[in-house]
Amino acid sequence: MTHPFRSQFPFYNSANSSNVAQSTIYLDSAATSQKCKPALDAMNEYNLYYASNVHRGGYKIAQQATKKYEAARSTAQSFINAPNSKEIVFTSGATEAINIIAAGLRAEHLNGKEILICESEHHANLVPWQMLAKRFDLSLKVMPLAENGQFTDATLEMWLGMITINTAILACAHVSNVLGNIYPVAKLCAKASRMGAISVIDGTQAGAHIAIDVQKIACDFYVLSGHKMYAATGIGVLYGKYNALESLLPSKFGGEMIRSVRWDSSDFQAPPLKFEGGTPNIAGALSLAAAMNFIVENADAIHKHEQILYKELLAKITSVSAINVLGNVDESIPLMSIDINDIHAHDMASALAQQGIALRAGHHCAMPLMDALNVEGTLRISLACYNDISEINLFIDAIKNNIADYDSGTETLSKQQFIDNNALSIKASLQTQFSTATGWNEKHRLLLLQSKNLPLLAPENRVDSNFVGGCESSVWIDVYNNQLMAYSSSKVIRGLLAVLLSAINETLSLKDDNSETTNLVYSTEYQLAYLNSLGLPMYFSQGRRDGMLQIAKRITQLLSKI
Ligand code: PLP
Repeated sequence: MTHPFRSQFPFYNSANSSNVAQSTIYLDSAATSQKCKPALDAMNEYNLYYASNVHRGGYKIAQQATKKYEAARSTAQSFINAPNSKEIVFTSGATEAINIIAAGLRAEHLNGKEILICESEHHANLVPWQMLAKRFDLSLKVMPLAENGQFTDATLEMWLGMITINTAILACAHVSNVLGNIYPVAKLCAKASRMGAISVIDGTQAGAHIAIDVQKIACDFYVLSGHKMYAATGIGVLYGKYNALESLLPSKFGGEMIRSVRWDSSDFQAPPLKFEGGTPNIAGALSLAAAMNFIVENADAIHKHEQILYKELLAKITSVSAINVLGNVDESIPLMSIDINDIHAHDMASALAQQGIALRAGHHCAMPLMDALNVEGTLRISLACYNDISEINLFIDAIKNNIADYDSGTETLSKQQFIDNNALSIKASLQTQFSTATGWNEKHRLLLLQSKNLPLLAPENRVDSNFVGGCESSVWIDVYNNQLMAYSSSKVIRGLLAVLLSAINETLSLKDDNSETTNLVYSTEYQLAYLNSLGLPMYFSQGRRDGMLQIAKRITQLLSKI
């Protein structure tokens, strides 16, 4: 069966020279989507045939570029049904758009002392408000979700009740990037407007999946991100009601955004140019407009296809008893976060990565939500129009197999099993085993088995002073009786710690203070080189490698004290 949209995505083109695409099951579109052909063509055409700056030159290609750039603004206007193209500001992305709003607000805009945000908010729609709260002495209030990240009728009632005359700003995502929940933003904005509050809706995860009508939502501001909707990176949209944009202060000053400049003062352009200081991302804006046209032209078919995929995924995933699906499954885009019994999300993501399945684990830039859900991180599957059922089936098979692998990794290996008849040291034995294990699957299995050999730091000793910051999973390390002990919430990291600690503890137990080996073991470089010699770091994500460096540094610090 021919796929309805793949031919529109060169990533999937069989001529894709990288060949990686052929073996990648891409389920991380919420992080960034693949780029559609019209978006790539629009960028290329500009760069190849009429590259020139906008709003400046009178020559032909400059006029062409300006015309296309302003046409892109009109496309964005109709994409979200904004009344006027002057209400569309091109930004570098959603983060910049929200920062422009937060930086541009003055005390006289604020009819209240509270900023209300939703519990699942992305840091991009949270941290700028924390900064604003500090600047104007406002308090940040969180609208909580029900259990398991659910948005229910009762949640809506509660949120509406929280929007009062004390509310200065309501900041809420249209769609949660962690849970997929689609929030009834029109209802929230209507109440915010009655209470005299400013409403800011983060539509970053909505753009590729659901129709957006800012007049129906009746928000003051709405933001979009191009790279989540089949267009280039570095382009986004800030929509604001014209009056709201007019009274907002610009925060990026320079060329393009001024009307006239004297030595002692300057006048600014009217919106939207007032917010587009410097040369804008022209190619990006053109790619975004082309992607928006692609989405609009295929909206019904995209929606239908994505819903088929999502329902299939949901049916299959809920049949796996170890998996808990977080958030709403009815009012949702084709995105879900899952929590797997006793398996750290990063462990599962790295196992899947080795099997060619690309998806994201962790806090997804929503750390406070992780606390509220009482998880360290989630595994997020985010689908787009180019995915297909066979990918979902392969993903489900892989996740089931990985869960089974974890469960079978429960046998306990005694240290003695690693010492062969010739009385090889644990370290030498491990070195042999890891160096003969080929590929990630075998090394992964060895790590899972090794995790049982970690000298476990007791729960009462997993305290802040032993905590190793900068790791993707929680890690604690301490020394007792000249031996290192540790714990991590990730089984893979427990395995890694077991391997590292056994080598170090073995050296320490020799109690040869002057030995060159002992001094070597004390060094962070040695520890990392040791793990490298086992061929492990190459399989880890950058985040995990950063974590390993922090672990090695902490061990060096602890050893310097004994
Ligand atoms: N808001 C949400 C809900 C997101 O998911 C993201 C990115 O993941 C952002 C904002 C930031 O978007 P950008 O990369 O365009 O700055």
